[in-house]
Amino acid sequence: MTIAAEELAPLLAEIAAEASGRFGEGRLHATIPRLAQVDPNQFGIAVATLDGGIAKAGAADVPFSIQSISKVFSLCLALDYLGEDLWERVGRNPSGLRFNSLTRIEQEQGRPMNPFVNPGALVVADCLVDRAATPIHTMIGLLRRLAHSNRVSCDYEVAKSELSMAFRNYAAAALLKEYGNLRGEPRAVVHAYTHFCAARMSCVELARAALPLANEGRDPVTGAQILPPGRSRRVNSLMLTCGLYDAAGDFAYRVGLPAKSGVGGGIMAIVPNRMAIAVWSPELDPLGNSVAGFAALERLARDADLSVF
Ligand code: GLN
Repeated sequence: MTIAAEELAPLLAEIAAEASGRFGEGRLHATIPRLAQVDPNQFGIAVATLDGGIAKAGAADVPFSIQSISKVFSLCLALDYLGEDLWERVGRNPSGLRFNSLTRIEQEQGRPMNPFVNPGALVVADCLVDRAATPIHTMIGLLRRLAHSNRVSCDYEVAKSELSMAFRNYAAAALLKEYGNLRGEPRAVVHAYTHFCAARMSCVELARAALPLANEGRDPVTGAQILPPGRSRRVNSLMLTCGLYDAAGDFAYRVGLPAKSGVGGGIMAIVPNRMAIAVWSPELDPLGNSVAGFAALERLARDADLSVF
C-alpha cells in the first residue's frame, strides 16, 4: 500500500510530542567525549517516500553524528569494490555480543561475525583504505550524492575525540591484522573507520540517502541505479539480522523493519518498496540504541502498518 509523505505528517508530529516524555530514560554515549556534550533532550524524525516526498517532525533538520549507521554505506562501497569476495573476510550472522566485543575475533580466527559489529566494519574500512588515498572523501562524496545535500560533512572534532579513546578498536584492528585479515596498517584503518562514523547528517538527509535501499537500489527521484540489482535486498537482510547488534531480535519483533543504529542516537530504517525513515534522539539504552528513537519507530511501524512481516 502506498502512503504519501503528507499523510504521515500528523502521526510524526504526535510521535515527536510523545518522544519528549522519554527524555531522561537513557544515557549519552560516554566513550566519545565529544558526543557526551550533546544536548540530550532532542528528537527528530523524517520519512522519505518513493515519490520524492518528505515528512518530518521535531529536530529533523539538525545534523548529528551518524556513527555506526555509516557502516551500511561503507559496506555498499566495499561490495562495489570486492563483490561477493568480501564474504571470505566477513561473516553474515549476528554476534549476540556488544558491537565492540573482541571475543569473537579469536573464536572465528580473525573473520568477524558481520559487517556491522566494529571488527567487521574495520575489515570493510580496510577495503576502502586499499582503494582510496583519502577514503573519508569517498564516503562523504557518496553520502552527499545520496542525500542530495552538500551540507553532509565529517565532524573532525568528533573523530579526534573518538580516536583519543579508541583503545578497543585499535585492539580489534591489531588482532585482525595478526590473523591476516587487514591489508592496511591497523592505525590507518581505525583512523578511516572513525572518520566514517563521524559523518554528520540530519534525519531528512539520512532518510533521503537511504531511499535507494527501499527501491531496489535506484534513487527514485533521479532514476539513477545506485546499487546493482539485488544488492539492496542483501544489505537490508543484514540490517534486519545484525543492524541493532544484540537488540536485533527485539527490534525485529517490536518494529519489523531492516534498520541500523548508531551511538550518536540515530536509527535508519527501510520499508522496502515504500519509504526510508531516519530518527534521532541522543540518549541510549544499555545496548547502545536510541531510547526515544526505538520507541518512535515502534509506534510509527504499528500505526502506519509498516512491518515487513
Ligand atoms: N564509532 C563508534 C565505535 O566504534 C560506533 C559505534 C556505534 O555507533 N555503535 O565504537
